[in-house]
Amino acid sequence: MSLLVVGTVAFDAIETPFGKTDKIVGGAASYIALAASYFYKSIQLISVVGDDFPNAFLDTLKAQGVKLDGLQIKQGEKSFFWAGKYHNDLNTRDTLDTQLNVLANFDPVVPADFKEPDFLMLGNLMPLIQQQVLAQLTKRPKLIVLDTMNFWMDTSMDELMKTLSMIDVLTINDSEARQLSGEYSLVKAAQKILDMGPKVLVIKKGEHGALLFNKEEVFFAPALPLEEVYDPTGAGDSFAGGFIGYLAKTKDISFENMKRAIIFGSAMASFTVEKFGTERLIGLSQEDVEDRVQEFVDLVQFDISLV
Ligand code: AMP
Repeated sequence: MSLLVVGTVAFDAIETPFGKTDKIVGGAASYIALAASYFYKSIQLISVVGDDFPNAFLDTLKAQGVKLDGLQIKQGEKSFFWAGKYHNDLNTRDTLDTQLNVLANFDPVVPADFKEPDFLMLGNLMPLIQQQVLAQLTKRPKLIVLDTMNFWMDTSMDELMKTLSMIDVLTINDSEARQLSGEYSLVKAAQKILDMGPKVLVIKKGEHGALLFNKEEVFFAPALPLEEVYDPTGAGDSFAGGFIGYLAKTKDISFENMKRAIIFGSAMASFTVEKFGTERLIGLSQEDVEDRVQEFVDLVQFDISLV
């Protein structure tokens, strides 16, 4: 059993109403792998960085049990860089800069012992690279989850549509669901997106929780009302990591189990936003995670009798 994670490992510069960072470690796959590592240990990462990327963070990933044989380090090149600025409500942000750098010519190579993963998390990355990884697998994974963002809708829509036809679950945020479908109503958007390939769709709504759709049903997970929210960067990726990590751990990909998985995803996202960058996702204990999940359970548990 294994979980293959593909996505950016990167530098970010972030501005929120609570502060501003210089280049700090980020990237979709960094958050996904860290969040998933609290549930599942056999994780392999496929990504690329330049020789400017800190070894200390790679050591942190390794210490969490993440295998890095599929991480390419390009000498003389720069890592992917993203800069973003959040609005006052922290639910919306503007991308200030995206520098592909090493990503522009990335040719992913899946190590031989990871060509048959049971779970595949295609984190935010060029849709074509996501397809190149899929093409190298010798067996279709039990579950393929995809996360993407508006940048790829703006620049590679045709390739993205092709990737969408190959996956099982898509996770995107509400504005991206509207952009992808051309529908304002999230219910209508979900139905249109479910016709594009995925069997299940998760629409993330930041501090307003997440919706889980299949063709027949919809389920809702709240976000925890937190006292301290510093930086929402990586919340979506941490959600995805917790979601797929929990599914991999429980080996159950039913819609019923996905209802539980979005609570675990929401719990991991709630940690991430409490500090800048990946800091809060490092060094959590099993008890921290369990206590946080219990807070979600307590938040929404109610006892109603209709008779
Ligand atoms: P999230 O806040 O969960 O949407 O993800 C934020 C992370 O995505 C940051 O750490 C960025 O490095 C990474 N990121 C930003 N733009 C892109 C992009 N176009 N492709 C891949 N990763 C990106």
